[in-house]
Amino acid sequence: MAGRRIERLLIHERRLRWPVDLGMVAAVAGAAIRHAGRRAKYLLLETDAGTLILHLGMSGSLRVLPVATPRITHDHVDIELDSGQTLRFNDPRRFGSLLFTAGDPAQHPLLKSLAPEPLEDEFDGEYLWKITRRRAVAIKQLIMNSRLVVGVGNIYASEALFRARVRPRRQARKLTRAECTKLARAIKATLAMAVKVGGTTLRDYVGVDGNPGYFRQKLYVYERADEACRVCGKPVKQFTQGGRSTYWCANCQK
Ligand SMILES: [Zn+2]
Repeated sequence: MAGRRIERLLIHERRLRWPVDLGMVAAVAGAAIRHAGRRAKYLLLETDAGTLILHLGMSGSLRVLPVATPRITHDHVDIELDSGQTLRFNDPRRFGSLLFTAGDPAQHPLLKSLAPEPLEDEFDGEYLWKITRRRAVAIKQLIMNSRLVVGVGNIYASEALFRARVRPRRQARKLTRAECTKLARAIKATLAMAVKVGGTTLRDYVGVDGNPGYFRQKLYVYERADEACRVCGKPVKQFTQGGRSTYWCANCQK
């Protein structure tokens, strides 16, 4: 996307999670895209006119298609590029959103109070050590708390704790400094690997090319209850924690 120009922004359906402000149509017409980025679950298309902020909601997807491709049901937005392609947003349930800000996107009300990104330098063993000190909550629930760190979902929390050899039910404040360092590294490594192979297909996830994500084949413990641990061979265990399934190996994790 970077370096392309937006020829036209077409809003076919304004009724997304929040009504789409049609003022952005004229604002971004002809604008050059500087950078395509992300903050938490918000996708940021930074142009020289301002930033489009897109959220996929629960069922939204983006595809890159030739501009002439006929629309199908629930295709709500087209961002037509000077490459002859369009970035097309489809969302059956319309919980997704499209917003625009002419200012610094980091200062947008939806973004400015978000916790650190796990893949940024700001999130490290030192940060994890600090936020765990006075918290008696289980470590798995702490790393899934988006007010402390964004984007560590249920799958990746189980996987990262396995890699760090830390039991999911350990009290956060009981982790040693060395364990905090290991866990911060494990979170980064788990997410980086998942991004590299294209995410984890559970139900209906697809990449922009329409292919499913392949991280599932690389999972150590997630949804592998009673199967052999890939490290020690003992059966993987499962329990429910904060309403979510947790998977772990009682032999490998302390
Ligand atoms: Zn094991």
